[in-house]
Amino acid sequence: MKLTYYGTAAGEGWPGLFCNCSLCKAARELKGKNIRTRSQALVNNDLLIDLPPDTNMHSLVHGLNLETVDHLLITHSHSDHFNPPDLELLREPFAHNRPNTFHIYGNGKVKERIWNEVPDVSQVESKFCFHNAKPFQTISIKDYTVVPLLALHDRREECLFYQIRQNSKTILYAHDTGNFPEPTIEYLKANKVHFDLVSLDCTTQSEEDGKNHMGLMDAAREKRRLIDLGLGDISTKWIVNHFSHNGLWLYEKMAEEADKFGFLVSYDGMVVEF
Ligand SMILES: [Zn+2]
Ligand SMILES: [Zn+2]
Ligand SMILES: [Zn+2]
Repeated sequence: MKLTYYGTAAGEGWPGLFCNCSLCKAARELKGKNIRTRSQALVNNDLLIDLPPDTNMHSLVHGLNLETVDHLLITHSHSDHFNPPDLELLREPFAHNRPNTFHIYGNGKVKERIWNEVPDVSQVESKFCFHNAKPFQTISIKDYTVVPLLALHDRREECLFYQIRQNSKTILYAHDTGNFPEPTIEYLKANKVHFDLVSLDCTTQSEEDGKNHMGLMDAAREKRRLIDLGLGDISTKWIVNHFSHNGLWLYEKMAEEADKFGFLVSYDGMVVEF
């Protein structure tokens, strides 16, 4: 299995579009792994997670190829994870030779944004199919078994993160969540799998949070809890991802701190195979 990180920043991107803080200035100077765009990842070559406003840039700079992608998991409706107007580009004359239906899985708020914000949505309706993703209700996609799990994030909608299993390998992709809420822990305990890759939120980096996001200490505690529950171990790839300039750590410092807790640090364009 393969996971490619295309966008690894929190909502404002890093550098933030209009930000003049020292961390954003430093990122503009240093470039490389310090340039972080908004949240997106691809499982193998065919299962996309999130559709941020930087999707086109990911295809131009990092070679994201949507030719083989007919399935999109959306975590929640926030603008750094979902940019509905791009869906208009599924139809003619913007897209040629695209016969397959594009399947979108998301919560009720995601559905609402599609119908409110895709320009001329009735004209593109035949090109996509929306599926309402519900926490703990398994979704079968090709040879993947996907379980939406409940996140602790924006209380105005049912924010999700995803467990994705193919053959005997399993990914846990958990961003824009504080400490995993009790129903999610209960589900994981009752439906035990071994995670081969766990990608944990680290938006607030040096600061602790746990209520809407995680910092490194929150992620380390969540990692410990997953190990104690027998869901991951030394063979698991533990990764932190989704970073904000307000967390104060540029890539090098983030990598140094994360290493103390056995985490790899994501960067735009990072490919992990396992
Ligand atoms: Zn986010
Ligand atoms: Zn900044
Ligand atoms: Zn969010």
